[in-house]
Amino acid sequence: TSFGFKEVNEEEKAQMVGKVFSNVAAKYDVMNDLMSAGLHRLWKDRLVSKLNPFRGMKHLDVAGGTGDVAFRILETTNKVKQRGLKDVLESTLDEETQIYVCDINSKMLNVGKQRALERGFGQDRSLIWVEGDAENLSFKNDSMDGYTIAFGIRNVTHIEKVLSEAHRVLKRGGRFLCLELSHVDIPIFKELYDLYSFSVVPAMGEMVAGDRESYQYLVESIRRFPPQALMYACLPEHTKTREEKFASMIADAGFQNVEYENLVGGVVAIHSGLKI
Ligand code: SAM
Repeated sequence: TSFGFKEVNEEEKAQMVGKVFSNVAAKYDVMNDLMSAGLHRLWKDRLVSKLNPFRGMKHLDVAGGTGDVAFRILETTNKVKQRGLKDVLESTLDEETQIYVCDINSKMLNVGKQRALERGFGQDRSLIWVEGDAENLSFKNDSMDGYTIAFGIRNVTHIEKVLSEAHRVLKRGGRFLCLELSHVDIPIFKELYDLYSFSVVPAMGEMVAGDRESYQYLVESIRRFPPQALMYACLPEHTKTREEKFASMIADAGFQNVEYENLVGGVVAIHSGLKI
């Protein structure tokens, strides 16, 4: 069975995503490095530098998978912690930093917990692993200073639900940040990118992880994001880029100051918004 380009219903999509990430969990981090030639590390660094994490923050990383984004945030807040004597004194009065890694897939989270131990974060009480659905979060209203979702939003079934949940759990002044693979429109680069993603990535998936289909699904899901059904019928859509379309969905969820940054000619975009 090929995942192909066929239209799938919502239930099928959720099952497929579950199956894909259960299949790829063990090889997820190796494949990420291979497929992006290590670039995903720089993109995640960029995401976290935009977030500007601070000591004592309550942060939620959704679709957090094996913890890559959360580890970066924790490293940053730990560094801030060690800056000076004043900080050390203040830190005793401070509330503890809490970084929640929320993912629907327990296999991905388990790989993450193992990595946390290997990186020496095992004793760090700041890192909290939560199995949960981005569309229906178990966190309280107005409880988070920050929300990130990296390479996750295109895999969910209802993007609007995810955005409205992100808005709900953020405090006023809290930041929403989304890192996602996007679309290349530059001639020649586009052709090369398509060739790479449709031929090279599934072949690599087969060679390294013994699983062509999962990787085929992953590249195809990039093409489907944001989904056609959610594009506004009343707007002159042909004048809007994918990034702009996604930005208007974020604004519709109630976020202010919505902006985005394209990286590597649009291979990746970081969208952000503020809850005011
Ligand atoms: N953020 C990590 C990273 O950048 O390395 C992992 C990204 S991985 C491509 C996508 C993750 O989204 C998977 O771990 C998958 O289980 C998770 N996911 C898919 N649907 C989800 C949902 N509805 N709620 C929470 N997580 C979900």
